[in-house]
Amino acid sequence: MAMIPANALKPQFDLHAAEYEQKAAEVLRSGWYILGNEVRAFEDAFAKYTGAKYCVGLASGLDALILAFRLLGIGEGDEVIVCANAYIACVMGITVNGATPVFVEPDEYDNLNADLLEAAVTPKTKAILAVHLFGQSCDMDKVMDVARRHDLRVVEDCAQSHGTTWHGQQTGTFGDIGCFSFYPTKGLGAFGDAGCIVTNDEAIDKKCRTLRNYGSQKKYHFEEVGMNSRLDELQAGLLNVKLKYLDECNAERQQIAQRYMDELSTEYLALPKVRPGTVSSWHQFVIHTPYRDQLRAYLLENEIGSEVHYPIPPHLSEAYAYLGYKPGDFPVTEKAAGEVLSLPMFNGMTAEEQTRVIDAINHFKP
Ligand SMILES: *Cc1c(COP(=O)(O)O)cnc(C)c1O
Repeated sequence: MAMIPANALKPQFDLHAAEYEQKAAEVLRSGWYILGNEVRAFEDAFAKYTGAKYCVGLASGLDALILAFRLLGIGEGDEVIVCANAYIACVMGITVNGATPVFVEPDEYDNLNADLLEAAVTPKTKAILAVHLFGQSCDMDKVMDVARRHDLRVVEDCAQSHGTTWHGQQTGTFGDIGCFSFYPTKGLGAFGDAGCIVTNDEAIDKKCRTLRNYGSQKKYHFEEVGMNSRLDELQAGLLNVKLKYLDECNAERQQIAQRYMDELSTEYLALPKVRPGTVSSWHQFVIHTPYRDQLRAYLLENEIGSEVHYPIPPHLSEAYAYLGYKPGDFPVTEKAAGEVLSLPMFNGMTAEEQTRVIDAINHFKP
């Protein structure tokens, strides 16, 4: 019996290997490796894919978040509302700028509970970071409504929602800036680190292009202290190949998710719920079970991998000890941290592999 991993990247590469290899060779032979035609082509193609006016290629998803808040002028003394069960990088994007995260609990869809936003707004609140976790979408109608009424900016973290839509519109295009990661395991994954922002604001596009390149538009002229967060030609070229298959990949994941939904039949776990109005990209298939650690060990005995997204919520992480939170501050989030389990979900997962996962889980007894 071969191990079924929680995630595997090679099957997706294998499917179009010749095309990736040809593109890589093309870029290597071009003699041009940073910010060139491939990056420009990818920025245009990804803007078009999302429906945003502008896309700026960056070095990572975390850089996209860091730059997003900086571009909006959010820093020291400002508060940003974010879901307490978010990935740590979401919070880092806020705090690297000197701003303070204000956490709200998730809802039954494992995402920002927008009904709690209003109560979290203070005179210091400047923005909401809407993180679209696990391929789902936040309720962007409610998020945008609260933002409008309190004059807040909205940043969307789409690192797990490439191709996810909310009432037919792509995530990342509702707020001021959409931040994407193209880390290899993401829905649209590069073969190294990469990221981008999308926006409809020309000034943000222009300033982001400057900041990603030491604060320079014109060689050796530095308008402000910037970063080095450039997307390279090799990753952009490979992303140009992969973007063509993103919808196909999401459709395949949708099928895998549907099969889990239809065939997992055990009282010991709760299946994920999809918010009505969302087409999920199924970045993860996250179940909840009070027997999580036991189920995970049992699956491993059966040579089935799984993951926990995430075992330690940011407010209890060592990195954020200085914020002064303690266990019990966000009970919904903390309960989820002990109960969530991400089942094997990857492009190229075979029907036989999924049958094995389903059978094993359906025979699990705590
Ligand atoms: C992966 C991820 C990030 C960070 O992206 P990197 O490219 O790894 O820096 C940020 N937010 C979320 C929700 C993520 O899943």
